[in-house]
Amino acid sequence: MSLALSGIGVSRGIAIGKAHFLRGSVEVLEGNLPESLLDEEVARFLEAVETARRQLESLMGRIPEDTSINISAFIETHLLMLDDATISTTPVELIRLHGCNAEWALKLQRDEIVNVFEEMDDPYLRTRRDDVDHVINRILRILLGRGEENGGSDSKELQHAIVLADDLTPAETVLLEHQGIAAFATEYGGPLSHTAILSRSMEIPAVVGVHGVQHYLRDGETIILDGLQGILIASPDENTLTHYRARQQAEQQRRLDLARLSLKPAVSLDEVPVNLMANIELPEDINTDGLASAAGVGLYRTEFLFMNRATPPDEEEQFDCYKGVIEALKGKPLTIRTLDMGADKQVDSGSSRSGSNPALGLRAIRLCLKDMSLFRPQLRAILRASAFGPVHMMVPMLSNTQELQQLLALVDETRNTLQREGQAFSPDIRIGGMIEVPAAALSAADFAARLDFLSIGTNDLIQYTLAIDRVDDEVNYLYDPLHPAVLRLIKMTIDAGRDAGIPVAMCGEMAGDPRYTRLLLGMGLCEFSMHHTSLQEVKRVINNSNIGKLRPLVEELLGNTKAGQIHARIESLNSNLTE
Ligand code: PEP
Ligand code: MG
Repeated sequence: MSLALSGIGVSRGIAIGKAHFLRGSVEVLEGNLPESLLDEEVARFLEAVETARRQLESLMGRIPEDTSINISAFIETHLLMLDDATISTTPVELIRLHGCNAEWALKLQRDEIVNVFEEMDDPYLRTRRDDVDHVINRILRILLGRGEENGGSDSKELQHAIVLADDLTPAETVLLEHQGIAAFATEYGGPLSHTAILSRSMEIPAVVGVHGVQHYLRDGETIILDGLQGILIASPDENTLTHYRARQQAEQQRRLDLARLSLKPAVSLDEVPVNLMANIELPEDINTDGLASAAGVGLYRTEFLFMNRATPPDEEEQFDCYKGVIEALKGKPLTIRTLDMGADKQVDSGSSRSGSNPALGLRAIRLCLKDMSLFRPQLRAILRASAFGPVHMMVPMLSNTQELQQLLALVDETRNTLQREGQAFSPDIRIGGMIEVPAAALSAADFAARLDFLSIGTNDLIQYTLAIDRVDDEVNYLYDPLHPAVLRLIKMTIDAGRDAGIPVAMCGEMAGDPRYTRLLLGMGLCEFSMHHTSLQEVKRVINNSNIGKLRPLVEELLGNTKAGQIHARIESLNSNLTE
């Protein structure tokens, strides 16, 4: 009888193959030790940390040469974590304090660190939590005598296998890909972990967070993995196999079509060019292959530069970093968003304070205007970097025009100071604002009159319009980009930009979802910025759409559709307009 398990699909694709268990989960038991054995236990722990270091260094030497992804950066992160006192020293203190075994001390410390991460809520920091888990599990396996990188499996066994594991480190994922695995599924992990990101870059179908994957499946049995739906099917019957083989073929065709598209421009059937841009978070994102087909960067989230550190980066560090990204873009524009700190993006450094309702509190431009010691160095760094290539400055979370005036005055003042100091900067830097607050969308015309461009941040616009905290699982079901109120605010913003003669972009998640591309084109959106993995999908829709024909359809849809019908209307918009 077949059995289906579900998890989070993080990398699309269908794989059919034999299950291959990499290793079991790491279970730790508490052991009490007499005082006389504690020195020995501490030495055993420190030796395990050293072994982990040697393993990582040897892994670094084994990175396949044709790996396009910067895997050494992941391994270096893990090496740095091994040096951190919270991982290499605190467990020693815990062994002595509780008189316990090294495994237990390490487990106590992991629980402590994980609790800190749990409180942060920020999905990006969750990736760091996964890194901590990977490093600690590596040491635990060594302590438990299960230290082999691939669980002792040889390459032959791994070829075409669907690997099942408790979790995989990014480094393991790269090695496994090199050994020819067909797909993988893990018990733990989330969609934003480095492992998940890698699986997408390497196009290995993957499902994470499959509870019970190690319990319900057997080594060697045939399974189907669907990385889009996030399902695993064990012991499938013939009908199910036939269905998934057909889907597998369709998926292969889809990939071929998308690969062919990457060199083509984004132009609609009625020859309207559309600007497709990429969102980046870290300077190294710029090296990703997939970014090559973007027309530039429509959102650079600079707050990631401020995370995981005790003090904020100074002007010079920011300048070097922005300049590096500009140079790597070789003439394509870079949209640098000023610091969007606070609420779901807490950082260790800086002066972010939450208040009792952080999403409505001192965040983004509000915080920057209040804390000049944080903001001035960034403004100076952005302006100075603009001397090295086309830069647009984008301001998050504007809610009234006084903030905007304050900002523009500050930019002028900074320009004057730089000029007096003889520092170079471009006189042409364009200044834009993000429309993320309903009040800003409702008064978009006032913003458009003073700015060079607008960019709609739908992640926040939806959260604030529908009064749902974007990181609260309990109200996630209400998060709806197609809510008529959201659509009206988006339309008002696009119209305000058009009337003022300035471009309007969208850089929230909605821009990268191909289900909404035609709707947005029909509303008049001319620039989409998204994670690079969505670029070709969105381009395919653009290249198969006639914007002139979409306009009246979308206008009619927005004017006459009742809330409950919009989803169905969008489906028909997507299905029947290919010429
Ligand atoms: C948004 O709010 O849509 C956006 C792009 O910004 P962030 O997700 O970084 O808040
Ligand atoms: Mg936002």
